[in-house]
Order: sequence, then structure tokens, then C-alpha cells
Amino acid sequence: MTKRPILIHPDPRLKKVSAPVPDLSDDLRRLADDMLETMYDAPGIGLAAPQVGVNTRLIVLDCVKAEGEAPRPLIMFNPEIVAASDERSVYEEGCLSIPEQYGEVERPAEVSLRWIDRDGREQQEDFAGLWATCVQHEIDHLDGKLFIDYLKPLRRQLITRRMQKLKRERARV
Ligand SMILES: [Zn+2]
Repeated sequence: MTKRPILIHPDPRLKKVSAPVPDLSDDLRRLADDMLETMYDAPGIGLAAPQVGVNTRLIVLDCVKAEGEAPRPLIMFNPEIVAASDERSVYEEGCLSIPEQYGEVERPAEVSLRWIDRDGREQQEDFAGLWATCVQHEIDHLDGKLFIDYLKPLRRQLITRRMQKLKRERARV
């Protein structure tokens, strides 16, 4: 497995709508494994393929945070929300493409999700709590949407300027 560089906002590749996966291939499985390694290393709890510059509908996540609890790495090709609760919840979200910036986002508290797993099998499962927020955040990436798009315009512009500055600084070293 290889760690891949994570794109930092603003980047046109983070704003594109990603294409569905027609058929699983070894290349796509390798990409998914690389993404998990990249995510754990960051460290983060979710990563979408556009964040490593690939505009394909693939996300990985593991929202197990409690110490001593077994990790639960999930690889989802073509993830799709098939139902969402009316009840909503608010989480302070962050993003590996927008380092060290956070903002409260309100989303459905529970979602029912369908996806294709690493072995090409269709899966369906309900997610709640942090998992529900995380899958929605990652699926947003596949539609070119970032969590800062839910924030007030001034806050979004402030964060974007900070990221432009961060990218200039990183380019200099
Ligand atoms: Zn993100």
C-alpha cells in the first residue's frame, strides 16, 4: 500500500462530480487500499477519491474512535443514500483537504446506505451518529461539495483565504 498526497482546497478536482465505477478492477482495489492507508496516516476518519485526485465514486471510512475497540475499515464503491431520517444532528466537521478548520454542519441524523464492497458485493446498512455524518460528508465530495459550502459565505471565504495562504507557504518549501 502506498500513501497518496491529499489535495488541499481550493482545487478544481475537489469541485467536480465524480463518475460511477462501472466494474471493479485490481487498480481500483489498490486505490481503495491506498486511500485507507492515507486516511489512517493523516489521521482522519474518512477520505473520498477526489481528495487524492481521482474523480471516481469511491470513499473509505473508519469512524471507530474508542480506544481498545477494533477498527472497522469500510471501502464503498458507488455509495448511495437510499433513505435519510427527518431527525437531524449537528457535528463540528473537519476535512483532510481543509486542514485544521472546523465548522458546525447540520445533516440527517440517520441514513440508510447502499454500496458495492471491495469484493464487488452489494451491501446495505443503516448508519447513525458520527458514522452517518461521515458517510454524508464523504459522499458530498463525490458531488464536488465541501463541508464549508454549508457555512455562511463570509466564514467560507475566510477559510478559503487561509487555505490559499497555506498552499502558497507549502509551495515555497
Ligand atoms: Zn472531507
